[in-house]
Amino acid sequence: ETPACTDVDAVVAQLAPVLPVVGHDTPAPLVDGRRVPYANLDVAASAPALQAVADRVTRTLPLYASVHRGAGYLSQVSTSLYETARRTIGEFVGARDDDATLIVRNTTDALNLLAGCLPAADDGEPGRVLVLDVEHHANFLPWQRSARATVLTGRETAAATVAALRDELAAGAAVGHGYALLAVTGASNVTGEVLPVADLVEAAHAVGTRVLLDGAQLVPHRRFSLAETGVDYLAFSGHKTYAPFGAGVLVGRRDWLDAGTPYLAGGGAVRSVRVDGTEWHDGPARHEAGSPNVLGAVALAAACEALADVDADALRGHEDALRRRLVGGLEAIEGVEVVRLWPDAADAVGVVTFTVSGYEPGQVAAYLSAEHGIGVRDGRFCAHPLLSRLGYGAGAVRSSVGVGTAGEEVERLVAAVGALVADGP
Ligand code: PLP
Repeated sequence: ETPACTDVDAVVAQLAPVLPVVGHDTPAPLVDGRRVPYANLDVAASAPALQAVADRVTRTLPLYASVHRGAGYLSQVSTSLYETARRTIGEFVGARDDDATLIVRNTTDALNLLAGCLPAADDGEPGRVLVLDVEHHANFLPWQRSARATVLTGRETAAATVAALRDELAAGAAVGHGYALLAVTGASNVTGEVLPVADLVEAAHAVGTRVLLDGAQLVPHRRFSLAETGVDYLAFSGHKTYAPFGAGVLVGRRDWLDAGTPYLAGGGAVRSVRVDGTEWHDGPARHEAGSPNVLGAVALAAACEALADVDADALRGHEDALRRRLVGGLEAIEGVEVVRLWPDAADAVGVVTFTVSGYEPGQVAAYLSAEHGIGVRDGRFCAHPLLSRLGYGAGAVRSSVGVGTAGEEVERLVAAVGALVADGP
């Protein structure tokens, strides 16, 4: 039974994708043998590739040769494609002239790389990093392992969380234990909610702390600029930005990256190698040992171009409308609880996580797939500390949308959860 639908909801149900993605309408088999178009509401895990990306990859495939390593024509073309892609990606996120844009595998890779470049503190011990307990493990474990990480418990509101971060940053500086880095998420991968970046940067820079933004859930859904926000480092993943797997990005201040131990040791990262010593490159090459992922970089650059061509308000408006319908529709169903982190968050991307009373999250996800052809994620979303603190230690169900999501898919999810509850466990 579909929960009551307002006029606005009816309009949202008609929304077409903003950009075409591949695989939309792939037939999904149901338990009764029928097939329905697959509704991919797990975009936050991995977004389907844009059609424009697929076209670019197809066109680039015949030109694919060794990057930075060959004198042949196609090697030169590939090198040019790779370096052009690097520039396009950097421009998409407003990289400053002296920032380095490194092509890595994904956000996890980018954050581990940066953790390896964190300068030591004055006492020679690992640098100090301030993180929140709301982070995806990718922006938590590298700091827990390689730095002196202080984990601040998020507060009940975004405003109180920012105030607590500000106090902790100032307290560290006051006793001569200043934090080198504040590592914070751009948008929560559990609730989609966003902290005010400008306030964080202002608080951190006031005490000489740099800011790393985990942009995995932000960059694909909002226009973001390093130059405009003053954020020092940004990490994000191609496969969440409507490109295929295998390419991600770390972009930011050059000095730490040039001074850090090369992330991988191997060909391409060195100027010269002798038996008794090695001279490493600086710049991106220092951390990009091994044959570069030219197709991954080209695909991600194509996604950046396609997203940049969409009016920013249209992009945001589409996802906002879908998010509002999901939150409103799900909350109207008895026994469904939507997970909230910061009720005062000024912005949230299209990630809506919920529980259904009487059902394990895995049962809900399996039901949605088997009976309705809807793909969602269930579990603890690589954010165990947050889920435990919020009282969802047993996990929850996460739905998420993007530029390729149609209103009808969101409507199907609301109706399906309504039907599950109406039929009873
Ligand atoms: N950070 C956030 C906020 C995420 O949502 C994710 C993935 O879900 C990651 C980091 C890790 O991304 P990847 O698996 O592409 O390295």
